[in-house]
Amino acid sequence: MNGEERARAAAFAYLADLVEVEAEGVLPRAALTRGAPLDGDRVQLIGAQGIFKPRQLRAPISITTAPPARGREPPYPDVVTADRLEYRYRDVGGQPAPSHWQNEGLRVAMRERLPLVYFYGVEAGWYLAHWPVYVIADDPAHRIFTVALEAGATSVPSDVIAAEAGKAYIVRPTRMRLHQTAFRIRVLRAYQSRCAMCRLHHAELLDAAHILADRDERSTTAASNGLALCKLHHAAFDRHIIGVRPDLVVQVRADILAEVDGPMLRHGLQALDGVRLDIPRRRMDRPDGELLIERYEEFRKAG
Ligand SMILES: [Zn+2]
Repeated sequence: MNGEERARAAAFAYLADLVEVEAEGVLPRAALTRGAPLDGDRVQLIGAQGIFKPRQLRAPISITTAPPARGREPPYPDVVTADRLEYRYRDVGGQPAPSHWQNEGLRVAMRERLPLVYFYGVEAGWYLAHWPVYVIADDPAHRIFTVALEAGATSVPSDVIAAEAGKAYIVRPTRMRLHQTAFRIRVLRAYQSRCAMCRLHHAELLDAAHILADRDERSTTAASNGLALCKLHHAAFDRHIIGVRPDLVVQVRADILAEVDGPMLRHGLQALDGVRLDIPRRRMDRPDGELLIERYEEFRKAG
């Protein structure tokens, strides 16, 4: 192994160790900045820019997607067959700089098939990681590098989900797993792992529910498009048994309110009518008002 390969191997081993100790596979930026130990030195893994090259190496070791700054982030396609990431060229001061050394560095990585790490920002200071990834194409006309995400290890939890039939298995593409994992972490952290309706405080019984459905192309993975809900209230919300008014008050569908049944119906559902939603402290994490209006309209139509 040459120096370039040894440093990358050290970086991957370090990440694998980090994933073991960090909850949910979310890695703190400080550990990535400190870097992987190598021959009494450290190989830094992340820097101020999206494309990062450690001082010991000729080519970059990582590319990063920053966490959303204002609660919004671009939507992602709901069907991803080819698991590709389109990574934008480094610009300088908003101006194209195709020959910037960071862009040149990714071309070196592409030519020599050097493995990189992809960091996906969950929120400020926290990242999911996927490695190794490879730069497989350079598109100067659109100023985009194409990065293949299929292979490799990841800090994202297990990806195999059973399909409806129970026999076929769907392996979700890396890109979708990163998005879905980040969405869950953002939402659960924002709501401090409590159901926004009943305040149940058991992460293993909580979901990150979408306000604007995942399949909608405008749907985002920001916390403001989500509600932390327990399994029961998530299912009831998705089936329009309970709705959330734009003024954040929970409303139970009229026919459900009129029903007479045991304690689960009374306490689990009917008692929620008129309850005020418990919302995150940070403004950017709170439910998006426009999305709530849209969702409430669907609820009303369903009633
Ligand atoms: Zn609940």
